Amino acid sequence: MNYVVSEVLLSKDTISKKVQELGEQIAQDYAGEDLVTVGILKGAVVFLSDLVRHIENNVNVIMDFMAVSSYGDSTKTCGVVKINKDIDTSIKGKHVLIVEDIVDTGLTLSYLIRLMKERHPKSVRVCVLLDKMERRKVPVSVDYKGFDIPDEFVVGYGLDYAGKWRNLPSIHVVDVQE
Ligand code: 5GP
Repeated sequence: MNYVVSEVLLSKDTISKKVQELGEQIAQDYAGEDLVTVGILKGAVVFLSDLVRHIENNVNVIMDFMAVSSYGDSTKTCGVVKINKDIDTSIKGKHVLIVEDIVDTGLTLSYLIRLMKERHPKSVRVCVLLDKMERRKVPVSVDYKGFDIPDEFVVGYGLDYAGKWRNLPSIHVVDVQE
């Protein structure tokens, strides 16, 4: 089987406008506050790096990162998520914004929200670029969302297939050719 990048689902201009809107909204909501952004490696790196440059308004942004992998039976809703790298920042009493590339079943994010809340932050919110709502298995409350997308596998703008295509400036659907 051959995997090819096909149609553009979201162009770089469309993404850029939306990321600016999200950043400005976040800047308004956290004006004058400290905010720890928790980017989920590696997919959210491109999104987060563009997003933070729109979070102005005297928000003191502290960028941190986590690396996770889900394992176990993906058909179950228990959401076993392995932490490969944890954040270095103490988030006790601080505002936390988890930044993720895409929410699919919701297992990863629901686990991460629970984990962050156990550390007694002042607040925890979630920002995702893409949402595949149709695939949700567990509810996740998303506070800042870029786009709802159909149930297709997408790459580009940080998202990969087998490590490839993160560098594409637009978001594309991946097609399987037999
Ligand atoms: P969830 O726990 O919500 O099912 O999974 C979220 C993770 O699945 C994302 O962080 C991402 O790594 C991966 N994922 C889900 N859908 C896609 C997709 O269409 N493209 C890519 N590249 N990754 C996806």
